Amino acid sequence: MSKLVTPRTATDDDILVHREMRVRGVVQGVGFRPFVYRVARAHSLRGAVWNDPQGVVIRVQGPQRDISSFVHTLHDSFPTAARVDSLDITSLELHEYLSFEIVASARTSETFTHVSSDLVMCDACRAEFNDTANRRYHYPFINCTQCGPRFSIVKELPYDRPLTTMAQFEMCPECQQEYDNPSDRRFHAQPNACNKCGPTLEYYVDTQGAWRKTAREEDAIAAAAQLIHRGGVLLMQGIGGFHLVCDATDELTIKELRSRKRRDAKPFAVMFPDIESLEACCVVSQQELACLTSPRTHCDSRAQT
Ligand SMILES: [Zn+2]
Ligand SMILES: [Zn+2]
Repeated sequence: MSKLVTPRTATDDDILVHREMRVRGVVQGVGFRPFVYRVARAHSLRGAVWNDPQGVVIRVQGPQRDISSFVHTLHDSFPTAARVDSLDITSLELHEYLSFEIVASARTSETFTHVSSDLVMCDACRAEFNDTANRRYHYPFINCTQCGPRFSIVKELPYDRPLTTMAQFEMCPECQQEYDNPSDRRFHAQPNACNKCGPTLEYYVDTQGAWRKTAREEDAIAAAAQLIHRGGVLLMQGIGGFHLVCDATDELTIKELRSRKRRDAKPFAVMFPDIESLEACCVVSQQELACLTSPRTHCDSRAQT
């Protein structure tokens, strides 16, 4: 008995295509390129991804059906901190690619792109921060592609380490390995750092106009806490700028701060440790609550719609 087998013929889905995708929105500093890299690799596509001043550019080459599936996966699983305003796809001539790569950023035009706001510490980093066995235990500048400073460290676009205030900190071999490893959650995390290679904490006291270093690391935090408890004003310098901190419940200190800042009535920003303590002092609407609990440190009204 013979069996008739219909040989599978090539369909449009098998045709090799090369596409360019331009993604605009909040797509720099939110782990977008590593995300695209992983999705492209998972679909066995070749090509490249890079930041340019307009956003992110993706070039992918592969069978039509894999490209379609790639685009669907992108749409379904953008990084949580990203906001995609547009994704335009154009066709290109076929190209010789060896693999899929993240390439150095192109600086081709001056068009404005949105840089992500700073992002609050993610759960994975918080777990490491509290793990005594982790090499970043209690490291105050811990971050990854899902969290950490962004807007406040950018000096120029596109968002790449040499164009941020982190440029002066050369990564140690362990940090560099994380930065280079596509399966690591710090793959291409621009502010990646640790206690060995990144910024550290130092505490200085103003002694008649000259600053004298009196404490480091955890001792610096203890000294800062004591100063605030005593009614002092702390000047905190980070990789993103300066910040004045004092006890908001201490009327004398606030009076002193108002006079020094020549700010008689304009409100100051107040920090609360959690929503419960905030609600004990203020009425908080649902929209305000959504902003306050968002990973973004600056609320973006468009992100609420
Ligand atoms: Zn993180
Ligand atoms: Zn390091």
